[in-house]
Amino acid sequence: MSSAGQVTVTFAGCGDAFGSGGRYQACVHVRPPGAAPVLLDCGATSLPALRRCGLDPGEIAAVFVSHLHGDHFGGIPFLILNGQFAGRASPLTVVGPPGTARRLPELMECMFPGSSAARRRFGVEVEELRPGAAVTAAGVRAEGFGADHPSGPDSPALALRLTLGSTVIGYTGDTAWTDALIDVAAGADLLIAEAYYRDKAVPYHLRHADLVAHAGELASRRIVLTHMSADMLDHLDQARFEAAADGLVLRV
Ligand SMILES: [Zn+2]
Ligand SMILES: [Zn+2]
Repeated sequence: MSSAGQVTVTFAGCGDAFGSGGRYQACVHVRPPGAAPVLLDCGATSLPALRRCGLDPGEIAAVFVSHLHGDHFGGIPFLILNGQFAGRASPLTVVGPPGTARRLPELMECMFPGSSAARRRFGVEVEELRPGAAVTAAGVRAEGFGADHPSGPDSPALALRLTLGSTVIGYTGDTAWTDALIDVAAGADLLIAEAYYRDKAVPYHLRHADLVAHAGELASRRIVLTHMSADMLDHLDQARFEAAADGLVLRV
């Protein structure tokens, strides 16, 4: 079977913030056919996660960030610095929620003082994406949807919907259930869905039980679970959906 025209999705990291199950933090590598790859989130552990999968961080043309928590954007300073020291020449675009243009340089300065203003051979452009808006970066269109997950004042968390040619990938990011997820999933080829706990109520996160309760409304072709706690990982045999694992490769 030919893979021409298919988008390759590699779950370089699909863990929660705390390394549950030995998994790396959120870092989904998305390669459209014949084009540079992009990332959905770039948690602090993303460089080792990518290298484990044999993926070159220097190729990544854009990072789409769901929200400004360390396990979702904490790897971007390493990505930028790696490009600086590896002689990267191609530009990098970071698309993230409002606040990204301020908090990314702050993060860089906190981690590596002086790094945010260092001279580089490649440009880093930040594009802020509001809920209800869309931007295109590296040929990928991203729509932002309001998520229910506090991640800083004036910095609303997003669920994302990427369009790559004729392929649509939805991503819940971290969020309590919100009906916006129905729109994120509608007609998508793949929905990457947080399933933090099975049925224990944890504020501002999705549970497997929420996805089961709303399964009839989530009209994507495929649902793959991510961002799972140890409790969820220990009961994967009871999951009603496919589960991601670090290194899992899908063609969608
Ligand atoms: Zn979060
Ligand atoms: Zn998270």
